[in-house]
Amino acid sequence: MSATIIDGKAFAARVRAQVAEHITRLKSEHGLTPGLAVVLVGEDPASQVYVRNKGKQTVEVGMTSIEHRLEADTSEADLLDLVRKLNVDPKIHGILVQLPLPDHLNSELVINTIDPAKDVDGFHISNVGLLGTGQTSMVPCTPLGCLMMLRDHHGSLSGLNAVVVGRSNIVGKPMAQLLLGDSCTVTIAHSRTKNIAEVVGKADIVVAAVGRPQMITGDWIKPGATVIDVGINRIPNGEKTRLVGDVDFDSCAAVAGAITPVPGGVGPMTIACLLANTLTAACRANGLSEPSGLTA
Ligand code: NDP
Repeated sequence: MSATIIDGKAFAARVRAQVAEHITRLKSEHGLTPGLAVVLVGEDPASQVYVRNKGKQTVEVGMTSIEHRLEADTSEADLLDLVRKLNVDPKIHGILVQLPLPDHLNSELVINTIDPAKDVDGFHISNVGLLGTGQTSMVPCTPLGCLMMLRDHHGSLSGLNAVVVGRSNIVGKPMAQLLLGDSCTVTIAHSRTKNIAEVVGKADIVVAAVGRPQMITGDWIKPGATVIDVGINRIPNGEKTRLVGDVDFDSCAAVAGAITPVPGGVGPMTIACLLANTLTAACRANGLSEPSGLTA
């Protein structure tokens, strides 16, 4: 293996420490404690784990964490009422509605009811538009985490060829916008892309957000390229299962210049960036300067 391993776990710990330090200052100098409200509808086991981790880490950095756990059959009207109440609650600076929502709820309507200034997931249509036009916005956490790791590894990304594999609204598209914002030459590949291995093979930076276990193999990768693996896939491992990314780690690490592992790469950065976004939202809401290095 020749690639440098980009340690997302250690990076996320540094981000959390930076967030915590800034919050200590906010409290002592301005009497301000950032607050994050997380809304979970139903009992999806994976969502419950995410929400628990988010709550724990929110408290650890010194923020207020409020969880609203609603029954799976909660009506859309009740959910929207709760979101509107959180929108006007001055103690709450970030609102996250855990996705996926049960089928009877309109996710787009719910997300677009969140005050864009408190939309720490960055999924509100206003934030999507602001990001797309290069204006100050709340940026989706997972792509923000990828961007932070890429900036840290490369310094400037200007002029680099970046290929994002996947065009979802939550990862692929915002990732491509962020890389464009940092002056990369960006290609977005997806399930209809022809000769995808050849397309990926031209990239200095590959971001894989596909949801297909170990799809991208070392023979696709340009020697020395940086590979960011967003994928989280569970595959059988004897009688148990194990987590793998969208990248075949061993073959890609033999060719790449740097690579994120799964687990321990992009995953830990996502919650760290949620905390960073909540801090940023609290600073903006109070007209205070934003922490440096924690936004796009
Ligand atoms: P989606 O399913 O929403 O999107 C997947 C994208 O991959 C689509 O654009 C699809 O193309 C493309 N795709 C599917 N198959 C192929 C293929 N054979 N060749 C090329 N492109 C293909 O997934 P998400 O973006 O939500 O998530 C992607 C991965 O990232 C998942 O493994 C998910 O678990 C993980 N993830 C990890 C997070 C973290 O915190 N680390 C956070 C969010 C997601 P098309 O549009 O043409 O169908």
